[in-house]
Amino acid sequence: MSRPERPKILCSACLTFCNCRYDGSRLNNEFVEMLKPYVDFVTVCPEMGIGEPSPREAIRIVTKSGVSRLMGSYSGIDHTDKMNQYIANFFATTEVAEIDGIILKGKSPTCGFKDVKHYGNFGKVPALMTKTSGFFGGAVKNRFKELIIEDEGRLLNREIRDHFLTSVFLRFGFRQVKASSQPLKALNTYHTNNKYLLMAYNQAALKRLGTIVANHAHLESAEVISAYDQELNVIYASQLKPGKNVNMLLHLFGYFKNDLSADEKKFFLEQVALYQKDLVTFSALLLILKAWVVRFDETYLKEQTIFSHYPIDLGR
Ligand code: SF4
Repeated sequence: MSRPERPKILCSACLTFCNCRYDGSRLNNEFVEMLKPYVDFVTVCPEMGIGEPSPREAIRIVTKSGVSRLMGSYSGIDHTDKMNQYIANFFATTEVAEIDGIILKGKSPTCGFKDVKHYGNFGKVPALMTKTSGFFGGAVKNRFKELIIEDEGRLLNREIRDHFLTSVFLRFGFRQVKASSQPLKALNTYHTNNKYLLMAYNQAALKRLGTIVANHAHLESAEVISAYDQELNVIYASQLKPGKNVNMLLHLFGYFKNDLSADEKKFFLEQVALYQKDLVTFSALLLILKAWVVRFDETYLKEQTIFSHYPIDLGR
């Protein structure tokens, strides 16, 4: 396995890469543009993959008696079998272990992974009241359960975007561990440097990860790596919530308790209380702590990824 140099993201091709939409256009997307200097994209357009041209007739999901088909919106041409074949080929040739995250075009009957409109028929009929998932997006979501999947609309939300980037870069870092010539040594460094980031997400999972790294049972390195990989999925599935990560902030604060003045300590604890009321951001608190890391030259904390778990440009 060669050492990966950059995270790899699977992305719908119409999000900036290719004029492949039904109307011959592509979509501008600021976030995907921002990511380009930092990640490698694998792009996919399933509709063109089944041999459709661009421009083309728009496609919709038609659901009758609980069975969904992918059809031309007005012609009723049935693309279902071709699309299912395309999806099967895609899964046969795409290695999930080499992908760190997925961005799909939202609301598309093909790429949308949830909240997609469907209809009772082709032609001029209103959409059904319920929503479904697109053919490709839904299949990807089911197949790649361990990967973080978002659409470009949800990624406008700051918290969702932060979690997406954190998961992508954590997963990428772990792929580097797996590809290392000394995986257990690399795992130790990975675990140490990510300690406070993992704690912010899920303290119980951090404990279990620590036990795996300690390897008291003297397992083979492949078993240790595999167990750690499994447990990391709990972190990806966790959310950064004030109730959970205040403990982590106080742990970091503890490093400076003998160095700070009473006023500085009072100020920080007040900001933490405001954070719990959603009046101060998590990043503002991290910035205060980071300033103290620099000021007091706290070597151990300098390497902690909680302060920079992805490139700063992407946090805009
Ligand atoms: S949403 Fe998916 S299928 Fe539709 S144009 Fe974009 S990449 Fe192609």
